[in-house]
Amino acid sequence: MVPYFRCQACGFLFTRFFDHWTDVEFQAHVYNEDYAAVDPEYANVRPTGWAQAITDGFQTHLANIEALDWGGGTGRLAELLRASGVRRAETWEPFNPDFASLPEGDFNLISCIEVLEHLPDPKTGIRDLARPLRTEGAMLISTLLQPANILEIRTAWWYLAPRNGHISLHSAKSLELVLGGQGCHLKTIMPHVHWAWRQVPFYLKNQA
Ligand SMILES: [Zn+2]
Repeated sequence: MVPYFRCQACGFLFTRFFDHWTDVEFQAHVYNEDYAAVDPEYANVRPTGWAQAITDGFQTHLANIEALDWGGGTGRLAELLRASGVRRAETWEPFNPDFASLPEGDFNLISCIEVLEHLPDPKTGIRDLARPLRTEGAMLISTLLQPANILEIRTAWWYLAPRNGHISLHSAKSLELVLGGQGCHLKTIMPHVHWAWRQVPFYLKNQA
C-alpha cells in the first residue's frame, strides 16, 4: 500500500513512501533490470524523439546551444544532440556511474525529460536542476500534468505509479510555484511539455 497525498493549496500530488529510501533501495526495487518492462520507451524511443524535436526546432541555432540532459539515463539524448551538431551536450544521471558527476560549467538548454515526477524531494531537485542554467537559457521539461478530473479518478490515473517511480505529480500551479521559486517563468505548451526560463534565450526568441 503506497498512499498518495494532494496539497489543497497547489494540487501537488505526492507520496512520502520513498522519502527515506537510499539510492541502493531505489536501484533494487524501482530502477532495476525489470524497469524497462514498466517504461519501454526509456532506452531509445524517447531520446530519439526528443533529439529530433530539438534539432528540427532549433536547426539554425544548434552550433550555439550548450545542453545538459538532467536525469539523462543512458546518455542517449546528449549523444544524439552531439551527432546533430549541438556545440556541447552533456548528461547527468545519478543512477548511471558513467554520468554520476555533474558536468562542469553552465548551460543555455537544460532538458529534464520524464524526471520531475521521480523526485522524492522536488524542491531540492528543481533547485539543483536550475542551478547550472544560464540567465539567458531555458529548461525543456517533460512531465505530465494532472488531468482535470484527478479528484474523480484519484490514484487510478495511469501516470501515478509507484512501481515506475512516479511519486511527485504536478498540477499547473505546483509546477509554476516550484519553478517560480527559482526565478523561472513557466510556459506549458502541451500537458506534458513545458519551457521555463529566467530570460528568454536566443533560440526561443521567435517562439516564446
Ligand atoms: Zn502545495
